[in-house]
Amino acid sequence: MQITEIYKSLQGESTHAGLPCVFVRLTGCNLRCSWCDSEYTFTGGQRKSVEEIFEEVRRLSPKGGLVEITGGEPMLQERELVPLMQRLLDDGYQVLLETSGERPLARVPAGVIKIVDVKCPHSGEPDTFDMSNLACLRPHDEVKFVISDREDYAFAREFVARHRLSDRVNAVLFSPAFRKDANGARDASHCLLDPQQLAEWMLADDVPARLGLQIHKFIWDPALKGV
Ligand code: SF4
Repeated sequence: MQITEIYKSLQGESTHAGLPCVFVRLTGCNLRCSWCDSEYTFTGGQRKSVEEIFEEVRRLSPKGGLVEITGGEPMLQERELVPLMQRLLDDGYQVLLETSGERPLARVPAGVIKIVDVKCPHSGEPDTFDMSNLACLRPHDEVKFVISDREDYAFAREFVARHRLSDRVNAVLFSPAFRKDANGARDASHCLLDPQQLAEWMLADDVPARLGLQIHKFIWDPALKGV
């Protein structure tokens, strides 16, 4: 597999935010989101076997716990990724898969918690969500919308309602987009959409979703990688 980095940190997003987690970040993505903070994953990386990755996870977190498979877009390496995720599950790890929603998810092992993006109009990659993935969602999964303005918010709100997402999954996440060149201040000044504004819209509309902040960008310098 082509791997950009493997490291241990605190989970920054989802309902698992704040928990210790080993991140396995795969190289390569076929999308180009306008606010992407992971462009360094598009090229490079190192070849590692499933066994080498598994051993590195075990070294970083020998007592089990949370492992997130992320990228880039991990499902571009589906052929080797599926056995890796199954191996981690079999060894007792709780496995999260962060994915753009553009790749088919039917072969993801049932025990994996999928955190699936639906790209909004101003992401730079609208209409990329594979609608067949709606049928692959399980009650423990989460669906995430990264929102940069009112039009993105309206799209997300309507998508959630039309597909009854809050009945299908454990959490629907609305997250304000963050500037990809953010550095220095560990506060909300780098958000493309003020979290307070997003919160007010969500409250006014009674949206069945959870406001998500990328807490690692408030703990460490937002320019830091590998945290
Ligand atoms: S899908 Fe993820 S890694 Fe790929 S461009 Fe979009 S934000 Fe970046």
